[in-house]
Amino acid sequence: MLIDSFNRAHNYLRISLTDNCNLRCFYCMPEENYEFTPAARLMQPDEIESLAKIFVENGVNKIRLTGGEPLVRKDAADIITRLSRLPVDLTLTTNATRLHDFADVLTKAKVRSVNISLDTLDADKFNIITRRDGFAKVMDNIHLMLSCNIIVKINVVVMKGLNDGEINDFIAWTKDLPLQVRFIEFMPFDGNRWTSNQVFTWKDMLEQIETQYTPLRLHDGVHDTDKKYRIEGHKGSFSVISTMSSPFCSGCNRMRLTADGKMKNCLFSDKETDLLSALRNKQDVLPLILESIHSKAKELGGQFTKDFEKIDADDLHNRSMISIGG
Ligand code: SAM
Ligand code: SF4
Repeated sequence: MLIDSFNRAHNYLRISLTDNCNLRCFYCMPEENYEFTPAARLMQPDEIESLAKIFVENGVNKIRLTGGEPLVRKDAADIITRLSRLPVDLTLTTNATRLHDFADVLTKAKVRSVNISLDTLDADKFNIITRRDGFAKVMDNIHLMLSCNIIVKINVVVMKGLNDGEINDFIAWTKDLPLQVRFIEFMPFDGNRWTSNQVFTWKDMLEQIETQYTPLRLHDGVHDTDKKYRIEGHKGSFSVISTMSSPFCSGCNRMRLTADGKMKNCLFSDKETDLLSALRNKQDVLPLILESIHSKAKELGGQFTKDFEKIDADDLHNRSMISIGG
């Protein structure tokens, strides 16, 4: 078991397959001069499998593939198939634009659920947020996943003045479709021009929802990052993720591996441990993993507190979200 100095056991690994993406969401990918990592510096399928096995031998039983956009990698199907042979709950976070090519692979790999990012139900606004076309394809692929009996969770980053007026439209969408919509507070990363006044907090979200609905609180798992609710008579449900205004670090069980093979013990940590170089140099990787876990900060990467209004994004040291792997 990978246990940190605050007695938190870590059984959940998020692996970024690439920092490349076919969309350009402005809150995720820096606008200027972003250079994608050259292929030779990315973990190769056998390296991903080897590193994943080490984590699994030490207690990991859930792996999420992410990116960048994990499905733009030409060998994504090979990687999914390799990891599906491990004794883990395998899942992925995707922008859904390429999911139609992966329905069979995901079914064979016994992937039971996918998280799909969609911040608006308006096609024009989708183009503004993602700086690309693709709304219709995403919608089609959400329905495709449901028809394959794969659970679909929709990630919505809520930003003040941009899509905060659409929260109840998303809730209405869950009336007849069994979707789990997750409203996420906007977080600061390198190059995303975050300011605290763009954060629409979970309390703001609930206040808006309560103008039209009466949400019923559901039970949350001990490691869940979201607070779950449902609306009477709806097939789907919703939740809020309050990273900025009410962090949930005390139950954290997550670790991250960037596409270039660096371990991050927290989304907001400024420290990285180079597991890929160690693997390539035939060094023992486990002591590096243990060291990283033991040095994990109590909350928020040790970089800020839950008093998010006081954060100056320029003082934070981190990668951009696209290169961490969300
Ligand atoms: N490309 C895939 C996708 O969009 O689902 C996976 C990678 S993306 C970085 C993972 C998740 O991080 C997405 O749900 C995205 O909305 C979220 N995300 C990116 N930047 C964010 C930010 N600044 N604040 C909150 N969530 C963010
Ligand atoms: Fe690409 Fe996902 Fe980032 Fe959007 S959120 S730019 S889809 S990696």
